[in-house]
Amino acid sequence: MRILITGGAGFIGSHMTDRLMSEGHQVVAMDNLVTGGIANIEHHRSNPNFEFIHHDVSNHIHVQGRLDWVLNFASPASPIDYLQLPIQTLKVGALGTHNALGLAKAKGANFLLTSTSEVYGDPLVHPQHEDYWGNVNPIGPRGVYDEAKRYAEALSMAYHRTHGIDVRIVRIFNTYGPRNRVNDGRVVPTFINQALRNEPLTVFGEGNQTRSFQYVDDLIDGIRRLMDVPFNKPVNIGNPNEMTILQFAELIIRLTGSSSPIEFRPLPEDDPKTRKPDITRAKSVLGWEPRVPVQEGLEKTIDWYRRVQAHDRGNS
Ligand code: UDP
Repeated sequence: MRILITGGAGFIGSHMTDRLMSEGHQVVAMDNLVTGGIANIEHHRSNPNFEFIHHDVSNHIHVQGRLDWVLNFASPASPIDYLQLPIQTLKVGALGTHNALGLAKAKGANFLLTSTSEVYGDPLVHPQHEDYWGNVNPIGPRGVYDEAKRYAEALSMAYHRTHGIDVRIVRIFNTYGPRNRVNDGRVVPTFINQALRNEPLTVFGEGNQTRSFQYVDDLIDGIRRLMDVPFNKPVNIGNPNEMTILQFAELIIRLTGSSSPIEFRPLPEDDPKTRKPDITRAKSVLGWEPRVPVQEGLEKTIDWYRRVQAHDRGNS
């Protein structure tokens, strides 16, 4: 197949690129490199099945030749990033998704939207199943991401219903793994890199908010399966292994063997109090469930950040 991945140089987009390249498909990765990085896809640059286009998908997208799939992965995805890039985040979710859907329609391609557990906002239902409509503050600091993704879901379904585009919608829960930027601001890279430097781990609030973390390979496997199943409604992909942020900080200190203390910082506005995916639908529709235990995934990720820190020290 010939597949366009918007956000193809990002954390998750580049892992999806790896997976599809390893299956022998042709991949066109498109990225404006605002939060993605060329280093994530450098290893494909000389492969004739691979093409990189430096482009911001919020502007009209032009791709020559046939396309079988448009995979829409482009967006800032860390709360710190979308606080710094609020308008770009709204534009890529709205205009970028519109352009990607228009391209899929013009090419007769299928379309996959990477949506997010943030569509559930600060959820009042626990765990979150796909039929829950969410509790989002539209004008809060996270609203730029949450509402853009909610709009992107609405637009995808409108293209499905109106134009018959074969759409897939994956709602991604907290995901970690290699290539998630050191300074991305999300809790996994932040805590691991603080722990590796024996600096204080910055727990927001009292750390009793919960999250459920999945390793990136599990996510990619779930998305790949969804491409093969003609199912057009949203599917949660996440690991239901829920813990508090304080427990997570203690786990990272233990796994890194760090001497870091824990420091408490103010809780950001609208920070969801709980988050845990109900994956009943993914199990029944895709035959999918996460396979990588959190300790194993974190150990691989810690190794990767150790190498990044060693490399950075070598260059400084
Ligand atoms: N968090 C934290 N310390 C940090 C970064 C994040 O305690 O240095 C908390 C944050 O308040 C949230 C959770 O960890 O409750 C997960 O945050 P992240 O930014 O990874 O993404 P979110 O799940 O909120 O989208």
